[in-house]
Amino acid sequence: MIFDELAGPLVEELNITDRFSDVEAIEALSPDEKQAFFDDLLQGCTRCYACRNACPLCYCPTCFVDESRPQWVGKTNDPVDVKTYHLLRAFHDAGRCTDCGACEAACPMGIKMRFLTRKSIKDCVDRYGWETGMRLEDRPALDRFRLNDPQEFIR
Ligand code: SF4
Ligand code: SF4
Repeated sequence: MIFDELAGPLVEELNITDRFSDVEAIEALSPDEKQAFFDDLLQGCTRCYACRNACPLCYCPTCFVDESRPQWVGKTNDPVDVKTYHLLRAFHDAGRCTDCGACEAACPMGIKMRFLTRKSIKDCVDRYGWETGMRLEDRPALDRFRLNDPQEFIR
């Protein structure tokens, strides 16, 4: 634990063994069931962007959702536009999200969008051993590339 000033007594770390059980439950669903789950999860989204505005990671001078040249994502409440916004945001935050919960706390519609960001956290831990905010000397998992990456897509 690293801090400049500690407000209150030191809290003992929890020993959580099933940390990603919520994500694993969704991973176990069939593709159709996943589609239905996320359709239902995001159906009330009004595109108010309170989740984006509350997120400590969102500091781009112009957010991709506000760009018009080029327009990266449609600006309507059409389900495809809504899902595109949430998926792009989740990928954009991957490797940097600390699961602070500010996005969900800010949502006036009670949408649990951390189901998306927590999947990216789990994948960063599983695939890269990367835990956001725990190593000052390293770059985030998806913040770099290697020319000798063994996967084909990089060539
Ligand atoms: S949980 Fe992640 S995406 Fe949500 S506000 Fe915190 S850092 Fe941002
Ligand atoms: S705060 Fe809630 S309603 Fe607003 S854009 Fe985010 S998920 Fe949608």
